[in-house]
Amino acid sequence: MCGIVGYIGDKNVYPILISGLQRLEYRGYDSAGIAIFNGDLNVYKCKGRVSDLENHVADKDTGGHVGIGHTRWATHGEPNDRNAHPHTSMNGNFVLVHNGIIENYAELKTTLQKKGFTFQSDTDTEVLVNLIEYFYQSGEEMDAETAVRLALSKVVGAYGIVVFCKNEKNRLIAARKGSPLVIGLGRGEYFIASDASPIVEYTDSVIYLNDLDVAIINKDSLTLKTVENAPVPFKVTKVDMSIGDLEKGDFDHFMLKEIFEQPKTIEDTFRGRIKPDHSDIVLGGLLDIFPKIMQARRIILIGCGTSWHAALVGEYMIEEYARVPVEVEYASEFRYRNPILDKNDVVIAISQSGETADTLAALRMAKEKGATILGICNVVGSSIARETDAGVYTHAGVEIGVASTKAFTAQVTVLTLFALKLAKEKGQIAPELYGSLIHELAEVPDKLKSILVMHPHIKEVAAKYKDAINALYLGRGYLFPVALEGALKLKEISYMHAEGYAAGEMKHGPIALVDDNLPVVVVAAKDSYYEKIVSNIQEVKARRGNIIAVVTEGDDTLKAMVNDVFEIPKSHPFVTPLLAVVPLQLFSYYIAVMRGCDVDQPRNLAKSVTVE
Ligand code: GLU
Repeated sequence: MCGIVGYIGDKNVYPILISGLQRLEYRGYDSAGIAIFNGDLNVYKCKGRVSDLENHVADKDTGGHVGIGHTRWATHGEPNDRNAHPHTSMNGNFVLVHNGIIENYAELKTTLQKKGFTFQSDTDTEVLVNLIEYFYQSGEEMDAETAVRLALSKVVGAYGIVVFCKNEKNRLIAARKGSPLVIGLGRGEYFIASDASPIVEYTDSVIYLNDLDVAIINKDSLTLKTVENAPVPFKVTKVDMSIGDLEKGDFDHFMLKEIFEQPKTIEDTFRGRIKPDHSDIVLGGLLDIFPKIMQARRIILIGCGTSWHAALVGEYMIEEYARVPVEVEYASEFRYRNPILDKNDVVIAISQSGETADTLAALRMAKEKGATILGICNVVGSSIARETDAGVYTHAGVEIGVASTKAFTAQVTVLTLFALKLAKEKGQIAPELYGSLIHELAEVPDKLKSILVMHPHIKEVAAKYKDAINALYLGRGYLFPVALEGALKLKEISYMHAEGYAAGEMKHGPIALVDDNLPVVVVAAKDSYYEKIVSNIQEVKARRGNIIAVVTEGDDTLKAMVNDVFEIPKSHPFVTPLLAVVPLQLFSYYIAVMRGCDVDQPRNLAKSVTVE
């Protein structure tokens, strides 16, 4: 949450800041701002999107070669001009952009107020910039870097910051704890950003900052140290991201592009991991750690939001095929509830960004308690990827739509591979079944293509239900998490209230909601629960609910029974979640578009949730 960008070099900084902020806008879009040094320090900021900022500065001086920018997801203080970043210290010496939360800001603010500091905003960030100013003024010999480090040593909470000091004109100072920051290395220039997307256009050489790193960035030199002033060696990595990944192409929205990319992203995720003759699965990232996984008494899958839904699918698969006990936990609960964990546990963190604050904290807690920690992430080099003992990347490519689609199916693909591999190594699965399930997975991309061509039909059905107030999503077994995910997609992008439920639980409450205004989406593909879910459909029908069912191709019984159907190709139940979720993604997408919602940047949300 919150996108940060910074540049120092010979180029004109304004276009770099603006295009960088546009790339990072998925991280927050409450307000945007820039500070550019051009002899004078020019700070421009306003409520709204990066495009509002562009209009705001249209007639202003934006010249300069050093600058910082920010796109905000508000935590402290409402989204308005005053609370927008960058924030300037009272005496005007420092300007700063921040991603994260300064948890002890109230206490620090009171102390600073007693010393005569005054504040213009309601943010925690303004407290930090003034704390830096306070230390800067506390000694004759003080320089900006020391003041930043001293201030950070007093801070409780999370930060990714970039700071500029008016008296040290050719320098930017960046630091992180909890919130990601990447430094791009150019020739005689440096880029700083929350992720590599604003940087790849200029260089593919980057350094990922670690927690408590402070970077002192001059036009032609870079020094890394800790907040405690100890030197830090740096590791340059190559980023594998192309500009095409960051653009919408012919699609109206990133979300739609990403939905349509799924045949490819699922294939990218299993390619190289399943043998061409479908005889085996190789998870290179887990090879060394596999003996430990084999001995695990229990596997705990942790995630938030969509990743938590993927984890639920994983639980069902691992328990059914590998016969290892699995628990699924919300990272935000797990980290605080003092769970019983030891070296016999394997904890697998699932996160698209690899930066989700709660998931990262839960993982660290699990590590401290002696568990083996693994990651399933999409962003290469992300914090979770770096801090885990081992892991598997989902090769979904850059996901920009705030509502996750292709990252979900890629996560489920990885969990499918993992469950099968573990089942095989544990001797829990017959070789023929193992081979045939790998084959089923390999067929998913083509089957998905046949679902995607039905988008005009899905759009027509969406038009019928677009004005509903509530919706209920039901599923059983592997398709229960799909129902949860379908409901989440609808509510996050169309703002229509939707609940996902295990179909068998319907009688214990949600059935009270059913009347002739309620759309009930039932994920009812043919599997071992089929007869049961057909009964649930009858129960909804008896109460005049409108039923939209995801059914297996050729299921004429259900077609005759319900109001609308989305057909998916016949498949083994083990891979059906990968197919069944796609019509639901499209259904939500079209409803949101018809309701005039901002699909890629839904209100109040942001991608990469780096605050808890
Ligand atoms: N706490 C800061 C603010 O509210 C930064 C928010 C964030 O990183 O999401 O402005």
